[in-house]
Amino acid sequence: MSKHLIVIGGGAAGFFCAVNAARLNPQLKVTILEKSNKLLSKVKVSGGGRCNVTHACFEIAEMAKKYPRGGHFVKKSFHQFFTTDTIKWFEERRVQLKTEADGRMFPVTNSSQTIIDCLMREATRYGVEIRMKSEVRSLIYENGKFTIGISDSGPLTSDFVCVACGGYPKSSMFDWLRELGHSIEEPVPSLFTFNIPNHPITRLMGVSVEKAKVKVVHSKLADEGPLLITHWGFSGPAVLRLSAWGARELATKNWQFAIVVNWLPEHNEQSLQEKFRQLRFEIASTKMTNRNSFGLPQRLWEFLIEHSGVKSETRWADLPAKEQNRLIKNLCACEFAIKGKTTYKEEFVTSGGVVLSEIDPNTMMSKKIPNLYFAGEILDVDGITGGFNFQHAWTSGFIVADSLKG
Ligand SMILES: Cc1cc2nc3c(=O)[nH]c(=O)nc-3n(C[C@H](O)[C@H](O)[C@H](O)COP(=O)(O)OP(=O)(O)OC[C@H]3O[C@@H](n4cnc5c(N)ncnc54)[C@H](O)[C@@H]3O)c2cc1C
Repeated sequence: MSKHLIVIGGGAAGFFCAVNAARLNPQLKVTILEKSNKLLSKVKVSGGGRCNVTHACFEIAEMAKKYPRGGHFVKKSFHQFFTTDTIKWFEERRVQLKTEADGRMFPVTNSSQTIIDCLMREATRYGVEIRMKSEVRSLIYENGKFTIGISDSGPLTSDFVCVACGGYPKSSMFDWLRELGHSIEEPVPSLFTFNIPNHPITRLMGVSVEKAKVKVVHSKLADEGPLLITHWGFSGPAVLRLSAWGARELATKNWQFAIVVNWLPEHNEQSLQEKFRQLRFEIASTKMTNRNSFGLPQRLWEFLIEHSGVKSETRWADLPAKEQNRLIKNLCACEFAIKGKTTYKEEFVTSGGVVLSEIDPNTMMSKKIPNLYFAGEILDVDGITGGFNFQHAWTSGFIVADSLKG
């Protein structure tokens, strides 16, 4: 009698597990249970509808550094299925990927539907059964078999289960997994932007700097990179990375904290004092607002001048010492009070999930219950933006399939 694998969740990890398990082990009956009436819904909306499939990083140690949680774990799992394998896997199925300047990889069609079509084709080709509107509510392991309580019919039984149900935002949603004996790292949001309600700098929405340093006050959290001013606060890679690395710490602060922005990270207060002395001499009669010698966006330069109490007509030679000091401070250590966060709709993830010490990264099998596997965001693994979360989904899904090839 053929064995049966039930995959819980019709997302990236669940599909990758199911289609590869059915392909690698033709004896295995494979069923996906999806609670909603949509399959691969996050793949569809991901990367702004283009699906950032993976990242052009070909060093495992380098890649592992992009995961605020689970870096050690993925270092092991990537040895079995890495970015190069993802690229090859899709290429072998006629899905060509391209790399953008920042390393993100997308299908050449620029459409996430290409990825969905490929995974759906594979599912049909290898006879994967798919049941939608089928929510798993309980999972019991007894005498070597699983009994799966689902919403749309009586319980199902299976020999193997892969839990690939994504991240849950609320702790209570993990109860059916806790009942199996698994521990859960409390979920907190990751990849969000910072709110500074009613701050005058938000008038500059749309202005960005290529390299700013953002530091959280009273914390070791700091990041350097592109910073974008939005109508509600700050966004851009520097902030998103900070939100990922600081997901847990910032949650404990209830997302109320102060940041210091250095708009000119190659400078500090001392080097700016020196630079100002030089400018006062070299361009003494030039109006300060006319001459932005730091390469900052003009609107930001004018804002910082105004914000420092410098009159707009002031010439470099006439800049009073007090205003100079204030402007220098605002250029290299401009403080903002963050009051809350906004979900980054392009690519948000939940950090937290099944505790990694309870899972074997070589097989993705539970160390508590035999034949119970996990893949994707349900695990306490999350990456920064750039295709890292999908890579973990492909890797973990593939490893489960490979473990079942018999
Ligand atoms: C808007 C957005 C854009 C993103 N863009 C990118 C990107 O471009 N690149 C990238 O790397 N990452 C991106 N991410 C993150 C990435 O989508 C996720 O990390 C990835 O989808 C996780 O895959 P998964 O299969 O583990 O979970 P999911 O994709 O969340 O799939 C889980 C599935 O399980 C189902 N399910 C849940 N509970 C049950 C249950 N009890 N019974 C049955 N079914 C259940 C859910 O309905 C869902 O369909 C994005 C996320 C979002 C929200």
